[in-house]
Amino acid sequence: MMTKIAFFDTKPYDRQFFDAANRDFGFNIKYFEPRLSVDTATLTAGFDAVCLFVNDRADNAVIDTMVANKVRLLALRCAGYNNVNLYAACGRLPVVRVPAYSPHAVAEHAVALLLTLNRRIHRAYYRVRDNNFSINGLLGTDLYGKTVGVIGTGKIGKIFAGIMRGFGVKLLLYDTWPDHDFAAVNGATYTDLPTLYRTADVISLHCPLTPETHYMINADSLKQMKPGVFLINTSRGQLIHTAALIDVLKTGQIGGAALDVYEEENEYFFEDMSNTVVTDDLLARLNTFNNVLMTSHQAFFTREALTNIARTTLQNIAVFFRDGKLENGICSQCDGQGTCPGRPSGAPCPKTKSTDRAHA
Ligand code: NAD
Repeated sequence: MMTKIAFFDTKPYDRQFFDAANRDFGFNIKYFEPRLSVDTATLTAGFDAVCLFVNDRADNAVIDTMVANKVRLLALRCAGYNNVNLYAACGRLPVVRVPAYSPHAVAEHAVALLLTLNRRIHRAYYRVRDNNFSINGLLGTDLYGKTVGVIGTGKIGKIFAGIMRGFGVKLLLYDTWPDHDFAAVNGATYTDLPTLYRTADVISLHCPLTPETHYMINADSLKQMKPGVFLINTSRGQLIHTAALIDVLKTGQIGGAALDVYEEENEYFFEDMSNTVVTDDLLARLNTFNNVLMTSHQAFFTREALTNIARTTLQNIAVFFRDGKLENGICSQCDGQGTCPGRPSGAPCPKTKSTDRAHA
């Protein structure tokens, strides 16, 4: 019997890349446009696996429904899993994900945002299209010789730092687990956050969203930053307290912000809302600043990343149904089978207790 997979929250590009990858796997795929939620969970009946993206919600009730419908695997086509109740899934519904697909895609997008913001390309584009050839107000700054602060030097932060090194900047790094070899090879310096805030002309966020990093960019940290700093966030919206950011944008204290993520993005991002009224006042206010550049969580969106996402997702599913193994299982302790070593009976799996809400 061909393995049947229900995909939720699908867009034309999902179908394009998954259909291409599926030529090597031969799964029976059904693409649903709606997101997975309590209202749509009944659609999972008759499927062996369910495939989700970042805005699908697999909470308690949804997982109960999937288990009742005899779904055997939950396959995330993304790295993050904050949208899945892993407690509810533990031991009942194994969960797999795509831990990495293209750090280059995200790092390169962060650079694109920085260059656009600095040289006002977003404004210049519209002016020239409107036959307005004035360059008043489009003054930028040389990045060469400036100080770029990178917060989070994992896969993406390192690639971003490497690209910025080519611009001839001074690199300041911050990470709770510094990689001093990387710093030495790249002529960079690890420092503490106050120093980075105080001295960086550009700050780019590449750390995960965790309880420690939630709202790390807030009124207090913004106050410490160098006047005119450019803030780039391709990581997670909730790293930044948006209301505090708006306050410093209003005073002109910071030079600008380029954001691929927004703390309340779920309601808006990935959807065409151009015919509706934006009721989110913070999002609406952000969009009024000419030194704020927003993209709709598209940093990952390259052919290479989508190809890798599709291949890894289908490979995860193939390995599970062929060998009964979890490749890229989220709970490495119990492999999603509820047999965690040292887990007291009935207690949550120690691994899934993590509040790690990292990744896109
Ligand atoms: P990674 O796990 O390779 O690196 C994260 C780094 O952050 C690690 O070095 C870790 O030590 C560091 N870190 C953890 N806690 C920290 C803290 N409190 N302060 C400073 N550093 C800390 O992850 P990655 O693949 O480089 O991804 C980074 C982030 O990019 C993800 O967490 C995700 O939020 C985001 N992301 C965004 C998109 C997008 O499309 N916009 C796509 C993929 C990932």
